[in-house]
Amino acid sequence: DRVVLSARGLTKHFPVRKGLRRKAVRAVESVDLTLRRGSVVALVGESGSGKSTVARLLAMLHPATAGEVRLRGEPVSARFGRRFRAYCRQVQMIFQDPFASLNPVHTVRYILTRSLRIHHAGLSTPELTARLAGLLEQVHLTPPERYLDKFPHELSGGQRQRVSIARALGAGPSVLLADEPVSMLDVSIRLGVLNLLRELTTELDLAVLYITHDIASARYFADTTVVMYAGEIVESGDSEAVTQDPAHPYTRLLIASAPDPDRPGGDREIPARGEPPSLITPPPGCRFHPRCPQAMERCRTQAPPALPGPGGRAVACWLYDTEAPE
Ligand code: ATP
Ligand code: SF4
Ligand code: MG
Repeated sequence: DRVVLSARGLTKHFPVRKGLRRKAVRAVESVDLTLRRGSVVALVGESGSGKSTVARLLAMLHPATAGEVRLRGEPVSARFGRRFRAYCRQVQMIFQDPFASLNPVHTVRYILTRSLRIHHAGLSTPELTARLAGLLEQVHLTPPERYLDKFPHELSGGQRQRVSIARALGAGPSVLLADEPVSMLDVSIRLGVLNLLRELTTELDLAVLYITHDIASARYFADTTVVMYAGEIVESGDSEAVTQDPAHPYTRLLIASAPDPDRPGGDREIPARGEPPSLITPPPGCRFHPRCPQAMERCRTQAPPALPGPGGRAVACWLYDTEAPE
């Protein structure tokens, strides 16, 4: 089995105050995800849909309100201790803004050495030097000597993101959680960084979660695409199928409103996008029903479970309920 990381029923409610009342932002609701070696899963959705919260839950940066995460079948419960430290080595995160995530007072050598030392105590100096050069070569920053003594501000945005990737690789991970890794980068260099991630996925047999609001990039970059709406997964399946022949009304809306260079405008009506719902008092029934052009009566009261959709995908929508005719 190629499964490395799996989450079941992952839920996060953030407590907040509204005036005198205590409430909760229901940011992530019962999410199931499976990451496999040598494979990229794209997690797609509009701003505020809960993508980063899912990544932070998987990276154990937040305690979950409910749900279970397993690394190679082993449940990870406590956020301390030896098993937790091993988990943190195995599951590495790459953030959107490499400038904010790299300490400006440290050189590339220091940043990478620290990552190698934290995760592999007891490396000799020659071993360390070889590993440093190897890491930079892996992210195509060559020759390594040219980069080792640079500070983050002396690098381009793309080079900085490559250093963050090298730092993550220093830990010897099996899972990379990449939260919008290219969205802050210049359009012209995004593809290079995505191709690098793809190459590393295969070469190092990594399991990668690629978070993006750009569903078009999921098509060529990810094997599987998972679509989130208002904290819930609404559709998941083979990327080609989900992006070319979306089944859930929200995925259709997302694709119709995304600029697609391959599809000149004019031949398709762009539906009104509407507003994402409040996560403090989410709509009852299907959370998408206030914006759904196909909403039926039951959608207002009953939340749809994940149902089998075309091409083996899962779709949380009553349109795919074959049992009860509406
Ligand atoms: P974006 O595309 O803008 O990055 P996202 O899909 O990553 O959005 P999240 O950052 O996961 O969305 O946020 C999901 C919801 O949880 C939002 O409504 C957000 O305001 C809320 N949220 C996130 N972190 C907290 C927090 N620490 N306290 C309260 N609410 C939070
Ligand atoms: Fe639309 Fe109903 Fe499907 Fe929700 S369950 S997406 S409201 S048709
Ligand atoms: Mg985010």
